[in-house]
Amino acid sequence: MQIGTHALVFTGTFDRAGISSAVQRTARAGFDLIEFPLMDVAGFDRDHAAAELAHHGVDASASLGLDETTDLTSADSEVAARGEQRLRECLEIVAALGGQYLCGVIYSAMRKYPEPATDAGRERSAAALRRLADRAEGLGVTLALEVVNRYETNLLNTSRQALAFLDEVGHPGVGVHLDTYHMNIEEADLFNPVVDAGERLRYVHVGEGHRGYLGSGTVAFGELFRALDRLAYDGPVVFESFSSAVVNADLSRTLAIWRNLWSDGDDLAAHANRLIRDGLHAARSIRGQ
Ligand code: MN
Repeated sequence: MQIGTHALVFTGTFDRAGISSAVQRTARAGFDLIEFPLMDVAGFDRDHAAAELAHHGVDASASLGLDETTDLTSADSEVAARGEQRLRECLEIVAALGGQYLCGVIYSAMRKYPEPATDAGRERSAAALRRLADRAEGLGVTLALEVVNRYETNLLNTSRQALAFLDEVGHPGVGVHLDTYHMNIEEADLFNPVVDAGERLRYVHVGEGHRGYLGSGTVAFGELFRALDRLAYDGPVVFESFSSAVVNADLSRTLAIWRNLWSDGDDLAAHANRLIRDGLHAARSIRGQ
């Protein structure tokens, strides 16, 4: 199992200096992996990132939220094609970093939709993901579809919905990505949706209900850790937290990061690394009890 952190804990700027700082501080906080948000594909220096990762002994993954101009569910074929092309570029970046996962809201736009998802939109997205998964498989990369709350997509709000959608996609290279921040809003509990996902669970985000310090809010992380132990889950478990103290112009607005929940990303990260590892350790201790 790889314990990781989202890069926005450290920086909102992904130029060479931002990448260097984020990778170094990820290692210093004790994490195995850093997740880069690929909001600016053209501006991301993959060679520099790969060198920094190797230097610090850190693995990488990448995530993305599509937008209205790259929405795979769009009835506008140019928009959907642009989304598919964007994701192909992201896959190449993940592979260049030696990464194994491209995750996030990569099946629709990450936005509040004014209407429910349509069958035609689902089918367009599923077909595009099947094509992308063929390419991803060749690169050794898994596509993990992040289940998010109703204000950030109209397609996958629960683990069960994601599993039904995966049946439609019908490709073993596509899995589920669950996030406790979103589960806390939409699911009945944090144990059953994880266990239900089973082997199709490929990526996990650990976030507090207000997206600040883990354990300072209402999310029942013990349920998640017990479920991951029950599954013998072996994929990434990645800390995600956002504050107005670290701003990425695109992502911060999309995710509605208006409040300053912390200022010291290094302290926040070291705390999260300990809490996640201790929580998983505690879950193992009651196995079979
Ligand atoms: Mn997330």
